[in-house]
Amino acid sequence: MIPVVALVGRPNVGKSTLFNRFTRTRDALVANFPGLTRDRQYGSAEYGEYQFIVIDTGGITGDEQGIDSKMAEQSLQAIEEADVVMFIVDAREGVTAADQMLAEHLRRNSKPAYVVANKTDGIDADSAIAEFYSLALGPVYKIAAAHGRGINGLLQETLSPLVEEFPEMRIAQEEDESDENVATDSTLEENDEEIQLDPKAIKLAIVGRPNVGKSTLTNRILGEDRVIVYDMPGTTRDSIYIPMQRDDQPYVLIDTAGVRRRRKINETVEKFSVIKTLKAIEDANVVLIVIDAREGISDQDLSLLGFTLNAGRSVVLAVNKWDGLDTYVKDRIKSEIDRRLGFIDFARLHFISALHGTGVGHLFESVTEAYESATRKVTTSLLTRILDSAKYEHQPPLVRGRRVKLKYAHAGGHNPPIIVIHGNQVNDLPDSYKRYLMNYFRKSLDMMGTPIRIEFKESS
Ligand code: GDP
Ligand code: GDP
Repeated sequence: MIPVVALVGRPNVGKSTLFNRFTRTRDALVANFPGLTRDRQYGSAEYGEYQFIVIDTGGITGDEQGIDSKMAEQSLQAIEEADVVMFIVDAREGVTAADQMLAEHLRRNSKPAYVVANKTDGIDADSAIAEFYSLALGPVYKIAAAHGRGINGLLQETLSPLVEEFPEMRIAQEEDESDENVATDSTLEENDEEIQLDPKAIKLAIVGRPNVGKSTLTNRILGEDRVIVYDMPGTTRDSIYIPMQRDDQPYVLIDTAGVRRRRKINETVEKFSVIKTLKAIEDANVVLIVIDAREGISDQDLSLLGFTLNAGRSVVLAVNKWDGLDTYVKDRIKSEIDRRLGFIDFARLHFISALHGTGVGHLFESVTEAYESATRKVTTSLLTRILDSAKYEHQPPLVRGRRVKLKYAHAGGHNPPIIVIHGNQVNDLPDSYKRYLMNYFRKSLDMMGTPIRIEFKESS
């Protein structure tokens, strides 16, 4: 388990800048999925020695009718979901009414909250931040998010107290890039006893908004007689891990809906938890996103998808409740999918009925395919050959009169696949050409279901 950090504060204080810095290693990928930014954005963060989930919020302006207004709702929601709150203020503007309003809320709330004064570059920081002590939330941390200054220290102070509660937040010192590590982290601690999961098992998280049919689908999968299920205990805070086997392939279902926890049919369904869902995504190899055909594609569906891609996880999409719809409605849903999900055409899409079982079996073909794409080994010579033919079909642009030179490519990791391209002036390569390369590699390698990351290295 890893902790959740919420960034709150007024608009324009630098929350998104900080968010982008925390999720930096995943920038290239995010840039390729436009239209996913929503009022509340979730990111998978790695910075210094820590990993955590970060929530960015649009911001509280102070013009709201009190802290309870709609505008402020998402910030309050983010605070609720977080383990730690970073209250970002603008060192150049001083304390505003909105800051005071938020500070009051945080003081009443028991969550650990830290005042972070941003934009301290190029000013007399110490005197600028003095007035933020009046917010009465303890020390004021100085940073310059745009320049990456003060951030390591900030995380050291604010996150290290959490290490005992969230041991997995600490990034292993040795970057484990071996090919065997794909599923070997599949242990979970329950009642101090460690349960070992089959390292060959594909971890599949079934996620989606409330009522899309996750429980029905999970039961359907588990109820099919070819499946052998082993029961595992769990706590109410976490998803349940259910080892199962299908066609000789072991899987672990990560059940966010709490199906197996309910002993009796009429026990209440657990409250939907965003954080539980995000943690399940982080821990999965493949994420099955369930969408409700009767509700269409919602912003929440897109946020889940965005988070999954940002975390580098493979995706299979299931449009559920496909039973009993007339042709007109089906066509309408299909065109909505084309319009809103067109950017993720590399993910397999299934139309299913969890209730009747239609199409459920085929999901596993796509899950396995996505997993294989994400973990496949590709050689340097193959990647370099693909790079060469991509250049041949469409040469890299000129930058300041010199052509960007791309020399060779090699694999930088799996799950998600990382392709490292070496060359000259690579930092000047426009996004459009990066996207071209991404699509070219995807097509040539026939990688379905998995996001791909491309990193560029300047050759000396
Ligand atoms: P948000 O609305 O809180 O998410 O704020 P943004 O991250 O969009 O930043 C608002 C503006 O502040 C942008 O123009 C940033 O470039 C600028 N900004 C962010 N961080 C810094 C910083 O550390 N120093 C300076 N000088 N400007 C910054
Ligand atoms: P969850 O909150 O995502 O776990 O959703 P549930 O599995 O509890 O399902 C919510 C409701 O949708 C229930 O009334 C289900 O019977 C219904 N439902 C689930 N799958 C289907 C389906 O494929 N077709 C139809 N028509 N209803 C379904």
